[in-house]
Amino acid sequence: MYCNKCGSYIPSMRKVCSNCGTPVPDPNAPAPVVEPPPEKRSNGIAVAGLVMGILTLALSALPGIPFLTGLMGMIFSIAGIAKKNARSKAAAVAGLILSIAGLAFSVIYLFVFTIPGVTKYLAKAEEARSSVSALGVILRHLK
Ligand SMILES: [Zn+2]
Repeated sequence: MYCNKCGSYIPSMRKVCSNCGTPVPDPNAPAPVVEPPPEKRSNGIAVAGLVMGILTLALSALPGIPFLTGLMGMIFSIAGIAKKNARSKAAAVAGLILSIAGLAFSVIYLFVFTIPGVTKYLAKAEEARSSVSALGVILRHLK
């Protein structure tokens, strides 16, 4: 073989170059261990987006809370989608869909059930209050 440094021929039995003294690499030596790159921990934000999306959908019947979790879910998911990591991207896309679906459900629930329910309750309360005051007027007249 030939020397890596000076290029002169080295007989196979020699351990060093006779010209420059450079040690000859041992062809039987184990190949240097190449450390695999550490797994990117960049899918945390995507998982947070997914969890927020699930929470938004689960809590969509409650007034207020889904708007907070849905907004956070969308922000985390969009941040997760921006990451160059296929696994995190899948979780982030799911998180974004769930967040939007949860927000949509919570808006529908608010307008279809919560607001009419509260309005009906307030109307009933007003009705009860006016009957009580009407009763008071009647009682006052009876005295
Ligand atoms: Zn040499």
